[in-house]
Amino acid sequence: MLEITGIFWRLELYIPVELPEPFFPLDTEQFPPEPAFNSLIGDIISNYCNNTSSAKFEENGCAVCGQLTPISQLTNINSSNVDLSCLISESHTQKERKHGTDTITGVTTPAIDHRCDSICNSCLQDLRNNKMPKYSLANGLWIGEIPKELQDLMFAEQILISHVRHN
Ligand SMILES: [Zn+2]
Repeated sequence: MLEITGIFWRLELYIPVELPEPFFPLDTEQFPPEPAFNSLIGDIISNYCNNTSSAKFEENGCAVCGQLTPISQLTNINSSNVDLSCLISESHTQKERKHGTDTITGVTTPAIDHRCDSICNSCLQDLRNNKMPKYSLANGLWIGEIPKELQDLMFAEQILISHVRHN
């Protein structure tokens, strides 16, 4: 051990750091360098086009959790062959009631958004493990369809009836 002004340093913890090689062209290299091969230029352009394509930015809703997700991270729910039985939650869902005298009953089918036909990778992985996804609609986040009377509200009206205030 080595003592320096009250601080103990353990010499065995000293690990030398390797610095990267300086990036200067050697005298033997040609400057300016040769242009890139056409195949490399082609790869760069195709990778750029793939990474900036609309499929990378387009989003769609997940039928299980309802979150907007990039299309590249979605799988068609019919072709995924996943068991949706763990999304049946009568205690967290209710059938729509038209009158106050209607009895309160739970939904006996999987609580998914039927307007969406895809499922996100996170939900898909949980369902393949027979586990209810944390943010699934069946996990107490289902509020049902928006009534027609509330679909075309102005912004101020939406704020007045919202359960959560964002500011
Ligand atoms: Zn999801």
